Amino acid sequence: MTPASGPLAQTRHFAPSRAAGLERLANFLPQAGAHYASWRNHDRGPDQRGNVSGLSPYLRHRLLTEAEVLAAVLARHSPSDAGMFVQEVFWRTYFKGHLETRPGIWRAYVSGLCREKAALEGSSGRRAALAQALAGETGIDCFDAWIVELRDTGYLHNHARMWFASIWIFTLRLPWQLGADLFLRQLIDGDPASNTLSWRWVAGLHTRGKTYLATAQNIRVCTDGRFDPRGLAQHAAPLEEPDPAPLEALKPALQMLPQGRTGLLLTEEDLHAPSLLAGSVLAGCPIAAVTGASLPTEASTLGAVRLPAAFRHAALDDGLALAAATCVAPALRLPSLSAQAIAAWAGAERLTTVVTAYAPVGPVADALADIARALLREHGITLVQWRRPFDEHAWPHAMRGYFALKTRIPDLIASLANDASDRSPIDPSAHA
Ligand SMILES: Cc1cc2nc3c(=O)[nH]c(=O)nc-3n(C[C@H](O)[C@H](O)[C@H](O)COP(=O)(O)OP(=O)(O)OC[C@H]3O[C@@H](n4cnc5c(N)ncnc54)[C@H](O)[C@@H]3O)c2cc1C
Repeated sequence: MTPASGPLAQTRHFAPSRAAGLERLANFLPQAGAHYASWRNHDRGPDQRGNVSGLSPYLRHRLLTEAEVLAAVLARHSPSDAGMFVQEVFWRTYFKGHLETRPGIWRAYVSGLCREKAALEGSSGRRAALAQALAGETGIDCFDAWIVELRDTGYLHNHARMWFASIWIFTLRLPWQLGADLFLRQLIDGDPASNTLSWRWVAGLHTRGKTYLATAQNIRVCTDGRFDPRGLAQHAAPLEEPDPAPLEALKPALQMLPQGRTGLLLTEEDLHAPSLLAGSVLAGCPIAAVTGASLPTEASTLGAVRLPAAFRHAALDDGLALAAATCVAPALRLPSLSAQAIAAWAGAERLTTVVTAYAPVGPVADALADIARALLREHGITLVQWRRPFDEHAWPHAMRGYFALKTRIPDLIASLANDASDRSPIDPSAHA
């Protein structure tokens, strides 16, 4: 077996549309079985990505759904051949469900980040170390290359993300929150749950006491000799932080049924309206108008976040066009995700209810909580969030370690067949 190359190799360019995601899925399908299991840990560089799917920007924003990717892969490969890929897809689900039941982890990360940014002011040594890392001038060949790759492509291979985070924390001795913030803003797939919990996992804060140490030997082998890093930390003592996270009950999937004239709001959390609306309680609810809005993009420590911002902007337009066609309703992009902008649109469309996909823990969920209160209080408009059955079935198993969810994967896959709302068109060549 050899690594995929030539026309099958995925490119460094992530076109921001569902059609591009479906094309990527179609190209990757032949590799999703034994080939992926054997080669997924190898990082051959940005122009040689045929051994991984490169689907994360599309899954992150749900231009593609996990359900349709899993169904397409399992239509092509046996469950045992596709087992490794399927498990990886469920890591995203696990992290989202885990953060959902421990929102205190997100709050602690946000306040820890503020604290570390403030502490930089008083520490010229740390400011210099950070500047050196961000300029790609640490002298650690792989790290210096990944900083450039992150800035230029908005993507890093999973193994490179693990090595990068490990070197950041244990060799460069930089605060993990500053590294997590860099990834969250600079990655096209930047995701509060996968990112925060992965950084915590590397630091020994997720599986308490168990850290991830990047070694020169592992990097040499898994980058096919592209790098030969020197000076890496030889030990990775777990970071210590107070446990921020009592378990919280999952919020209900749908707080109330949409009433009256209803509009649909798309956010960067979930852009595939056809599968969101189909087969759910929302199917019986005609959508009179469609809108979409993004959060403002803040610069990262590497400067402007040009690629992620452009991807999110165009992906939202793509989602809006598909939603408008699905609902046979007018679509309008709002200048901002704010109560004021939504109220003005809802007023013009004479709406009493706005329905949106459930936003998992993170900045969009925080914004929607404020918006819902303001819409109801000041305009009498109800904002209803709807959680997909895929998340609804899986998240209750994500409260502790990954293993508990992993053992439920066969049941969760079986339940997909019954959920029309998650079973969107699964012909990746149709580009629908
Ligand atoms: C420090 C660190 C930070 C990360 N930050 C993010 C982030 O902000 N956003 C993000 O989407 N992923 C993040 N990941 C997870 C993972 O690296 C990416 O999802 C993966 O590399 C995406 O590439 P791919 O689609 O080619 O993956 P593939 O190997 O083809 O995997 C298929 C899909 O499975 C899921 N997946 C695979 N590995 C993981 C994983 N370790 N955790 C969660 N889901 C996974 C993704 O949806 C991915 O698209 C992070 C990992 C680490 C170690």
